[in-house]
Amino acid sequence: MEKGQLNKLQSFLSTPKNIVIVPHRNPDGDAMGSTLALCQYFNSKNHTATVVAPNEYPEFLHWLPGSENVWLFDKQNKQSKRAIENSDIIFLLDFNALHRVGDDMAKTLGEYKNDFAMIDHHQQPDDVAAYLYSDTEICSTAQMVYHFLEMMNDTDSITKDIATCIYTGIMTDTGSFRFRSTTSTTHKIVADLIDKGAENDKIHNQVYDANSHNRLLLLGQALINLKAFPEFKTAFITLSEAEKNKFGYQKGDTEGVVNYALSLKDINFAVIFIEDAEQKIIKISFRSKGSFSVNQFARKHFSGGGHDNASGGKSDRSLEDTITYFTSLLPDYKNELQGSYEE
Ligand code: 5GP
Ligand code: MN
Repeated sequence: MEKGQLNKLQSFLSTPKNIVIVPHRNPDGDAMGSTLALCQYFNSKNHTATVVAPNEYPEFLHWLPGSENVWLFDKQNKQSKRAIENSDIIFLLDFNALHRVGDDMAKTLGEYKNDFAMIDHHQQPDDVAAYLYSDTEICSTAQMVYHFLEMMNDTDSITKDIATCIYTGIMTDTGSFRFRSTTSTTHKIVADLIDKGAENDKIHNQVYDANSHNRLLLLGQALINLKAFPEFKTAFITLSEAEKNKFGYQKGDTEGVVNYALSLKDINFAVIFIEDAEQKIIKISFRSKGSFSVNQFARKHFSGGGHDNASGGKSDRSLEDTITYFTSLLPDYKNELQGSYEE
């Protein structure tokens, strides 16, 4: 964050404030870990902070400390709107544009009279925040929350619960510390979080070893549906609404499934297409290895965006037509895809 902005924010926060903290729609581990960490930090500093999430988050994150006080904008609409109206400032975490909270909540935020602060690691943040801390090199917003507390000279205030939330955000957004964005700084921070009480084995267990039988069967179906195109170093997975229903789909069940396509040898570009009958769209996740930017690909062809190696988007076509369209794009990227990742 630019020095002038940081000084202004510090002086604004020197007296107790009502603070609302907002993650993106369909919040993931980083969105929930970072918002809950910051929320508990502010509450320990005599502020009154509340996390208002646009909608429900996966069951495997419900154990996170502070989770019991999260309000869902779509389900607890009145209380959420009141919290927003009564707030002195809103922190936007882990997203870069207001529309990422969904149409309804974006409308409410669009009418907000006080300032926004944004802490985020996605590319090309919209110009909405009076206080902006944006860094696309950092692996997770949760790590940025740690750096934010460093800027406030206050990492000593990190409790076991706050450390647990930050650890969870870093762990989930780095694929358990393996993506290229994981640096030695990340590991030093994680070491400090463990010193401050984060129980790494328990956190991994609660997030990754909490599968239902149905979730594994849905994964089985996804793997059966996987198709690879070695000439484009590309593989994709599809899941139809009928397949989701057959295995009792719950929010979060498809999280991480796209990585199985990327785990194929010599595949640098992996995609999952998931039919969403409720929103009448195909939700798409893109992942890549190396220099092929799925952020640009998602922006250009599927109204989305994200990071160079992990992005998302959507399609208004049917599942079948979306696949046809997607495969028709691949020849244009043949050279880029073949040169994307050298061992
Ligand atoms: P996921 O595939 O896990 O939903 O998302 C991967 C990354 O891309 C996340 O960092 C997410 O915030 C971002 N992302 C997902 N969908 C969209 C989208 O529609 N627009 C933008 N700008 N980013 C997205
Ligand atoms: Mn993130």
